[in-house]
Amino acid sequence: MSVIDEVVEKVRSKDRDQPEFIQAVTEVMETLKPTVDKHPEFVKAKIYERIVEPDRMIIFRVPWEDDNHEVQVNRGFRVQFNNAIGPYKGGLRLHPSVNLSVIKFLGFEQIFKNSLTTLPMGGAKGGSEFDPKGKSDAEVMRFIYAFMRELYRYIGPDTDVPAGDIGVGGREIGYLFGYYKKIVNEHTGVLTGKGLEYGGSLIRPQATGYGVAYFAAEMLATRGKDFASKVVAISGSGNVAQFAVQKVTQLGGKVVTLSDSNGSIVDEEGINAEKLAFVMNLKNVKRGRIKEYVERYPNAKYIEGKSVWDIISDNGMKVDVALPCATQNEINEFHANKLVRNGVIAVVEGANMPSNLGAIKILQANNVLFGPAKAANAGGVAVSGLEMSQNSLRLSWTSEEVDQRLQQIMKSIHKASLEAAEAYGKPGDYLTGANIAGFIKVAKAMLAYGIV
Ligand code: NDP
Repeated sequence: MSVIDEVVEKVRSKDRDQPEFIQAVTEVMETLKPTVDKHPEFVKAKIYERIVEPDRMIIFRVPWEDDNHEVQVNRGFRVQFNNAIGPYKGGLRLHPSVNLSVIKFLGFEQIFKNSLTTLPMGGAKGGSEFDPKGKSDAEVMRFIYAFMRELYRYIGPDTDVPAGDIGVGGREIGYLFGYYKKIVNEHTGVLTGKGLEYGGSLIRPQATGYGVAYFAAEMLATRGKDFASKVVAISGSGNVAQFAVQKVTQLGGKVVTLSDSNGSIVDEEGINAEKLAFVMNLKNVKRGRIKEYVERYPNAKYIEGKSVWDIISDNGMKVDVALPCATQNEINEFHANKLVRNGVIAVVEGANMPSNLGAIKILQANNVLFGPAKAANAGGVAVSGLEMSQNSLRLSWTSEEVDQRLQQIMKSIHKASLEAAEAYGKPGDYLTGANIAGFIKVAKAMLAYGIV
């Protein structure tokens, strides 16, 4: 049995109740196999075994009072996975599906993603199974204050810098930062995704979605193609999806789908700037559901209970580029086969781990360009890193400056992924390339520290 197989086996046995974490470890470790022979020093120092074990996992009670004065109890998580190359960094997720397995998988992936950005950031993730949907602003605020009342002990601008993720947008970051500032009595860059008035960076809200589009454009260019006149399927309708729609449209693509956890819309005429403005207002201000899109644009269709990938598979719909931007495990083997049959050119992950392992294998075996999340959606954390730099400098850069740096970082991630894939005998395999490029830097830092 190889070193890698042993590590995966150990995780399967020790963390057998954590399917998402096992899935992420299996995917990453499989692709690290080519590094074993080239780096016996990593094997000797047991870097592979050490990297799958978080530095620490913090789990805490979050009691709060709802609008009816009833006490509610949720569970809070912060998994500080690895700080070999910089302070812990990673988002907070508020969604009923959150549990230790989900947070560990996200924290683990974050190590490699953050390393790829070229910025000095370690990997972490946190959140709660609290569901902000249907809660009043006051309830969200009370929950967040209760969450921060415990979390504040473990974070700090040089220790751990959380950000947003599913269910944590501008409103939530405002409450988190406001409460931290109140109890610690410091105005420091302890969170990213902050409002512009209190230390946020221009382009941070756009960064993940724009980054996905920039990365996809780089990938298409390797086949002499671009977004012009391409039909693009995007899932989700949150932060990442919205700005992916915006950038893809600016680059000449036609986006024809969006979704939320209740269902999906198909608009074959394309979601143009005006329609996107409607979606942004619907989701971010009115906090409505995507089905309301068809009330405003009756030529579009809403399909309840189906994901974008179900609809594409059921109807044989032809799309050139697929950008899953909702959540993990959206695209399975069935969807992947259908996408291939319908002639998809590229599948580029905006969400974290939206394609399962079987789906990735099918796409790659059929010569579809596959852009893995940790490379393709790294633009968000990259601009979070730039927000940290600006906070430290006590300066703010212009939109153009930040966007320029974002484009540069996405280009360099693309290049690093392709070069590592080539160097380790898997040319064109972005998944292997991104994992290896991210891993090597962290592994070398861990090696330098001795056994800690
Ligand atoms: P948002 O909360 O803004 O939006 C999430 C979207 O996905 C919503 O439309 C939501 O629908 C939908 N969704 C969430 N869970 C499910 C589910 N279980 N089934 C179907 N649809 C679901 O989150 P983001 O846009 O910020 O995040 C989307 C993805 O991108 C996540 O995987 C996140 O980890 C990843 N990501 C985000 C980054 C960021 O900067 N925001 C950075 C890097 C990755 P509904 O409204 O019904 O919940």
